Amino acid sequence: MSILKLNQIDYSYKNGKNVLKNINMEFEQGKFYTILGTSGAGKSTLLSLLAGLDEPKNGQILFKNTDIKEKGYEYHRKNNVSLVFQNYNLIDYLTPLENIKIVNPKATEMDLEVLGLKEEEINRNVLQLSGGQQQRVAIARALVANSPIILADEPTGNLDSDTASEIVEILKSSAHEHGKCVIVVTHSKDMAKAADVILRLKNRDLVEI
Ligand code: ADP
Ligand code: ADP
Repeated sequence: MSILKLNQIDYSYKNGKNVLKNINMEFEQGKFYTILGTSGAGKSTLLSLLAGLDEPKNGQILFKNTDIKEKGYEYHRKNNVSLVFQNYNLIDYLTPLENIKIVNPKATEMDLEVLGLKEEEINRNVLQLSGGQQQRVAIARALVANSPIILADEPTGNLDSDTASEIVEILKSSAHEHGKCVIVVTHSKDMAKAADVILRLKNRDLVEI
């Protein structure tokens, strides 16, 4: 069964700019998806619809076969999806452990250690960590939130290629070992190669390649 299904989705901005047209797609649990597309193709727009941050003009977004409208967008954002960003979006005056405890008070140091954070890094201010370590904290935060879907927008965009490969492996295991549905917008061909399903947004449509 699909966890997230897009049914005839159209989206246009208020100025009339049409960005997405009749998109149909199903996403499953335990799979790692990448979405490729040139700059301006509509990737961020699509991700914001999947996240429940914006509403499609036409069509439905179904979570486990129920339109997310029924329980509401706020419910969807809070319970079904977690976001990972290019610039990590951590709370910069807190430690890694404090950052992940915000979304789940039961989170422990172990939740960070399994992603490769060292003990001395876990209680340091996050700004003293490298970009790669900050992104590990952001992914740990998404995992402890216990939402079944992880949405990431260019999560390796600010990282060198070795660090990027490590982050790709962590995203992959989030899908394959933790059973998450991981959907990543990226320009990286290496990231795409690691995915179970590679999608491309082109001419306002989303297709598997
Ligand atoms: P991508 O993430 O693939 O670079 P975006 O989703 O950011 O693409 O943008 C898709 C298209 O919509 C682009 O042509 C962009 O200029 C346009 N766009 C994005 N945001 C707005 C907005 N708030 N109002 C009008 N047009 C927008
Ligand atoms: P990215 O390509 O990194 O996804 P963009 O540079 O396309 O981001 O967009 C950055 C911000 O500007 C977004 O909030 C987007 O909604 C807004 N934006 C982009 N294009 C337009 C546009 N043509 N009109 C109004 N806002 C836009």
